[in-house]
Amino acid sequence: KWFPVQKSFLDQILAGRKDFVRAVDGVTFNIKRGEAFGLAGESGSGKTTIGRLAIGLETPTEGTVRFDGIDLSTQNEREMRHLRRRMQVIFQDPMASLNPRMTLGDSVVQGLKIHYPEAAEKHRDTLLEIFERVGLSPARYFINKYPHQISGGQRQRVVIARALITRPDLVLADEPIAMADVSVRALLLDLMVQLKQEFNLTYLFITHDLATAKYICDRIGILYLGRLAEVGELKEVYSYPLHPYTQALMAAVPVPDPHKRRTQPMPAGEIPNPINPPSGCRFHPRCPIAQAICSVEEPELRELRPGHLVACHFAEKFL
Ligand code: SF4
Repeated sequence: KWFPVQKSFLDQILAGRKDFVRAVDGVTFNIKRGEAFGLAGESGSGKTTIGRLAIGLETPTEGTVRFDGIDLSTQNEREMRHLRRRMQVIFQDPMASLNPRMTLGDSVVQGLKIHYPEAAEKHRDTLLEIFERVGLSPARYFINKYPHQISGGQRQRVVIARALITRPDLVLADEPIAMADVSVRALLLDLMVQLKQEFNLTYLFITHDLATAKYICDRIGILYLGRLAEVGELKEVYSYPLHPYTQALMAAVPVPDPHKRRTQPMPAGEIPNPINPPSGCRFHPRCPIAQAICSVEEPELRELRPGHLVACHFAEKFL
């Protein structure tokens, strides 16, 4: 079963202003059940917007989002509530996403109260079990604590527990370790990999960091200014990056031996303003191999290797 996000749509109409941001445009991809699909790009690339659209937290102005074959735009409020049990989010900042006045147990059990009110007598057992599963042990100790009484890494485990307590199918993980201490990042990633197996989860994993994506993702889409530059199996894209932007991102990933670096670093300059994106290929003002056609004609995503799609007029050069 698939979770596609299709076609183009407008997004983020700026309050009180006539101009708007087309934060995501013409993006189409599928996520297979049981895989971890990564979306990577710089800030402003539209990855968080796509994540929110994919699980129905935002509505596209054009295009279709399907979950398990269901077009989300056809669902009424009650049907969406039912679907939301199956689509949960792990947010980036656990401190901001946990209510400081609620105990950890009360925060995590909320999903059960909303989606399974008829099984109230089982809630406490389920709550204790999920705390143990995410490594917050003894669970009886942690459920009575408040967010400020535990460490940042433990808070992120609470957020993971809250996302998983309703046994979702799809989990949107939006930069889930970005706020964590470097010392606990690998532990949190290990936990997410382990829980994916145990709970048979599908991840939409959003990150700006290709090294993190490598740890967890099966396939990856590289976004630039609201458009997909490249998409494919992670090993394939990392071994044979065909888009100059992907190559530049790869060059920014630290490697033990700098002599092994074979791609060009990111050219100087900020990501352009999405209110007024460049014509043609949006990457052309920063692209080291841009030609005249690049500022005029927008490249389509083309499959240049099996399952490996690239939006660049000159990607064949890197085959
Ligand atoms: Fe660079 Fe042109 Fe390819 Fe865009 S289409 S990435 S500007 S070569």
